[in-house]
Amino acid sequence: MTAPVATPLMQQYREIKARHQSAILFFRMGDFYEMFYEDAETAARVLGLTLTARNNGGAAEVPLAGIPVKAGPEYLRRLVQQGYRVAICEQVEDPRVAKGIVRREVVETVSPGVAFADDLLDGARNNFVVAVATPARSGGAGIGVAAADVSTGELRLCTTSPAELDAVLARLAPRELLVARGSATSPRGSELDGALVTEREAWEFDEAMARDELARQFAVRGLDGLGIEQDDGAAVGAAGALLRYLKEMQPAGVPHLARPVVERTGDVMPLDEMTRRNLELVDSLRGADAEGTLLAVLDRTTTPMGARLLRQWLLAPLVNRAAIEARLDAVAALLADASARGALRDALDGVRDVERLGGKAAAGRATPRELAALGASLARLPEVKRATDRLNGAGSLGRLMQQWDDCAELAMAVTRTLVERPPLQLGDEATIAAGVDAELDELRALRDGSKDAIAAIQAEERTRTGIPSLKVGFNKVFGYFIEVTNANRDLVPADYQRRQTLTGAERFVTPALKAYEEKVLTAAERIEGCERRLFEALRAQVGGAIARLQCVARIVAELDALAALADVAAREGYARPTLTDGFDLDITGGRHPVVERMMPRDKFIPNDVRLTDDARVVILTGPNMAGKSTILRQVGLIVLMAQAGSFVPASAATIGVCDRVFTRVGASDNLVRGQSTFMVEMAETSAILHTATRRSLVLLDEIGRGTSTYDGVSIAWAVSEHLHERIGCKTIFATHYHELVQLADELVAVRNYNVGVREVGDQILFLHRLQPGGADRSYGIEVGRLAGLPAPVIERARQVLALLEGEGATLVPALASALAGRADQNGQKGGGVRARKPADADQFALFAAPPHAVVEALRAVDINTLTPLAALQLVAELAERARA
Ligand code: ADP
Ligand code: MG
Repeated sequence: MTAPVATPLMQQYREIKARHQSAILFFRMGDFYEMFYEDAETAARVLGLTLTARNNGGAAEVPLAGIPVKAGPEYLRRLVQQGYRVAICEQVEDPRVAKGIVRREVVETVSPGVAFADDLLDGARNNFVVAVATPARSGGAGIGVAAADVSTGELRLCTTSPAELDAVLARLAPRELLVARGSATSPRGSELDGALVTEREAWEFDEAMARDELARQFAVRGLDGLGIEQDDGAAVGAAGALLRYLKEMQPAGVPHLARPVVERTGDVMPLDEMTRRNLELVDSLRGADAEGTLLAVLDRTTTPMGARLLRQWLLAPLVNRAAIEARLDAVAALLADASARGALRDALDGVRDVERLGGKAAAGRATPRELAALGASLARLPEVKRATDRLNGAGSLGRLMQQWDDCAELAMAVTRTLVERPPLQLGDEATIAAGVDAELDELRALRDGSKDAIAAIQAEERTRTGIPSLKVGFNKVFGYFIEVTNANRDLVPADYQRRQTLTGAERFVTPALKAYEEKVLTAAERIEGCERRLFEALRAQVGGAIARLQCVARIVAELDALAALADVAAREGYARPTLTDGFDLDITGGRHPVVERMMPRDKFIPNDVRLTDDARVVILTGPNMAGKSTILRQVGLIVLMAQAGSFVPASAATIGVCDRVFTRVGASDNLVRGQSTFMVEMAETSAILHTATRRSLVLLDEIGRGTSTYDGVSIAWAVSEHLHERIGCKTIFATHYHELVQLADELVAVRNYNVGVREVGDQILFLHRLQPGGADRSYGIEVGRLAGLPAPVIERARQVLALLEGEGATLVPALASALAGRADQNGQKGGGVRARKPADADQFALFAAPPHAVVEALRAVDINTLTPLAALQLVAELAERARA
């Protein structure tokens, strides 16, 4: 028995597939894309196709699934949306002239992160593929990150630290991530919701090779000209790997990739994923829908570029006061001049996605209609400029408009070359306008004007022959002919060739008529060729100006985002924040920008919040539903909005610029994760204690709730104390553990506030008003009653509460004394510890019994030498012992 011999076709398939193993291969065979083996099985499963088999010239049957070429884009979209990569292999020679097997090549690979098609993209957000390079063993500086959006041509580089990597990735929200095989630092899964992670060979991240690659791509001799510095090695390595990948995906290259923008840490505020989520900046906690987010409130942009930029601004607030003021000045000018703002927004309204359309033009993908849309958008730019000029370059507008470029000749070229409404594709309908090209005009005249031409030939022949009844006609069999009645037969010239004899007439052709016929019949074909040539030349002209298009698109995006911020500020009555380099945060009449929109105007109760050096930690107590979380978040949102350059929902706000804002929400408010929620909560809290600085704003909402009350209070206590003593940052801690109000007795800069409720009869009324002092009780039972717990249960709960309140009072003093003991020791070392009030001697009197073993253990702890991991283990151990 001989081994089965693979057919040449399957050999070709295998060779190509071997080079595209990580993709599903769409293998073009005539009018179908065929998939084989596992690809066929995957496609059958994901797309619901029927799996068939193909005989491979031997014993083995090959699983096969096929889709019609016409339906290709739709199936491709579905696969890519499910996270697959698809390689499109086309026949690259005409099967009619091919000798043997038709040559085939992969012309493009599409993946979630490398896509051009509109149905794979969201206009309002970037589609990034991100490469992450971990430092070389030889003590490299940091982690290198390179991000590209092939649809817009953006390329960004930054160097970050392991601790900040998650924040950087959270901001980029990559659809696809490239990491070196076996690399040590792989980003946390949670930051990568749904991103496709691809391992690449480690050598691809090599810096030296990447330098050459980048220099070649951007045609520069050295990388200094690109703003890349010596320390950016890892980022350069990442960019090299990224470029290599993109070229693999796009064999025709990525000529539209703009020069890299190097982001420097310290330019923007890193926002970790939990903060971004908890504050619902761009995604709501309920799901991915944009409703109920800060972005949804602020996004009054009119162009997709503006929408993408505003989103980026919210995810990367500034930390440089001058840069923030420049944006605020521009917003203020736009706010003050409503008519200029209106004119600008009107002008922007017709501007389409210049950035992506330009990218498509440069990549040779723009359709006639897309190129026309680009041209029409460019044609509106002078009006955008006129409106902007009315604002006299206020704030960032001045710098922006210096680089302004109408791209007038491009707009002109497009509008002159294309018909007013070109078709979706080159083809039946005209794409190129009349008067652009003489040959095309002639061909069209030939096709359309055949009647006139025939009339002309007919007239000419009548005069030449002197036969007034001579006719030129057409039929399918003979084509064009000259018909002469029998009566005039004698007058027929010698060059007429007889073709057909009828009863009363004869039909002839002449070489001139045949030549004309040839012209007409091939005209359609030649028109198409001509249109294609002209269209492609136009597209190349426009695409060649991609750098200018990207530049003006960026300016338009900024104008749009600034005008949108001014527009919301006007509508919602926002105030300009005053930014300082100082410490204090002082908000008067602050509102939550999202919550206030969910209720009738003026129903939202504004609140004042002040955090100063000597009152920097606020313990916020109050019953459930009082409005603690709302106040906490509104403070975070107001600071982030201000630093993003927006006006804020408050009557006045003075904001000492923060280097970071952290928000954590206790476990039971945040059940999205599969992991032990308490563990996650503690890990997140530990990350804050490690990274927060004095200039940070830390917002903790019910931290410690995910465990037993004693554990919870202990942890909350220790965390607050650490923030107060060691870090000294502005902190708001919302809690329903009213035991924590005692912290204010212990620590000088802690203040108690509560969100008031009023008891009216046995009803409680939520006032949503912040007031000094701790909540005296938690009103949990009243809330339970409001929620409909049966009367006997409520009654019993009151009895139990009374009992507990009589007995449980030892908890806090125990803690207080234990912790005071430790802190006193530390206090002798000086450092960041501030003077504390003497512990109330009476509290110790409550210790009749010897202290619990857990308290003893706590006493022995030196928090300064404790790693977060050890702290976690310790907490777990203590909890265990407490339960024993
Ligand atoms: P808590 O965290 O104290 O349980 P929340 O902050 O979640 O309370 O607020 C509960 C609800 O109360 C909110 O959903 C909102 O409808 C309402 N609320 C909160 N703050 C205000 C306010 N300042 N003005 C009006 N309604 C508010
Ligand atoms: Mg709450």
